[in-house]
Amino acid sequence: MTKSDFSEVKVLLSQPKKIVIIPHKNPDGDAMGSSLGLFKYLKNNGHSPVVLAPTDYPNFLKWLPNNDTVEVFSTKDQDKIDLIANAEVLFFMDFNTLDRVEEIKPFVDKSDAIKIMIDHHQQPDDFPDFLYSDPTICATSQMVYHLFENLGVVDQIDSDIATCLYTGILTDTGSFRFSSTTSTTHRIAADLIDKGAVNYKIHNNIFDGNSMARMKLMGVALSNLVIIEDCKSAYITMTRKELRKNNFKKGDTEGFVNMALSIENVNVAAIFIEDLEGDFVKVSLRSVGSFSVNQLSRDHFNGGGHINAAGGRVDAPIAEVVEIFRKSVGLNKDEIISSND
Ligand code: 5GP
Ligand code: MN
Repeated sequence: MTKSDFSEVKVLLSQPKKIVIIPHKNPDGDAMGSSLGLFKYLKNNGHSPVVLAPTDYPNFLKWLPNNDTVEVFSTKDQDKIDLIANAEVLFFMDFNTLDRVEEIKPFVDKSDAIKIMIDHHQQPDDFPDFLYSDPTICATSQMVYHLFENLGVVDQIDSDIATCLYTGILTDTGSFRFSSTTSTTHRIAADLIDKGAVNYKIHNNIFDGNSMARMKLMGVALSNLVIIEDCKSAYITMTRKELRKNNFKKGDTEGFVNMALSIENVNVAAIFIEDLEGDFVKVSLRSVGSFSVNQLSRDHFNGGGHINAAGGRVDAPIAEVVEIFRKSVGLNKDEIISSND
């Protein structure tokens, strides 16, 4: 977005508006943090905002300030359809294509609200009226901070906003350790702490609420871990049966793929999880270095994401999806092996 685009957004938001903020389906810490951070700013400025999540999200995010105001979309609930129909402004947070809002998509297509996308994934769709896209930034929550800078309202960040944005940055940077973390990220995190984000409490809320079910599932994941040594790749499978047997709840498998990536001499890692409702396999991909799992996902797994973190889904039995993975890393073997040089 150019300086004059930011000025136009500032003018747009200078009068109270009905605003719906939509994170991607299965929202993560960054999607919810950026959405609820923006929500509080808009609320403080006299707007009528609501965060409308396409699907439910993990319990480890349900402590975020103003979480109790979040609506979860359902086509069976006319009130939620009306929210979109009546909105004057729609914000799209932390995703780059409308496929990521699932059942909300047809209602967005029908809406004549001003559409603003804030996102850090590569190759965004160009339908929004305002597209603030920057794949070099570690988290959409950091982009919301930059949005506030551009609007000249950083001093309006209260402790709720700071808490939400800090959470998004913390989760999308793997606790400030991924290569996307810059000195600017740390400066912003420091400012958010000054503005009321209590860093150790946030960390505790996100990472120290493990259920017994999650720990058991982690055991299953680790025992299903396979390494493809000659391709410096590793993968984990989790079947529907294994999930059910261990009382799986949304979010329980979050981060498991990183366990595979943390193994020495592994440059690409994947986890394949059978969906409990649909007849498909959810794929999560991670890499270190220059090898792009965004491209791998686009080419083989109907998805996308970032260079080092991407996802997708395949409508095929899990054994077939594993075969697709084995073939795809085989095809990219040389690039993967030298990815971390
Ligand atoms: P995760 O593996 O944690 O679900 O997602 C990793 C990254 O890939 C996220 O940034 C997410 O936005 C992206 N991603 C995950 N699933 C999909 C998908 O089905 N389609 C697309 N385009 N991106 C995805
Ligand atoms: Mn993000």
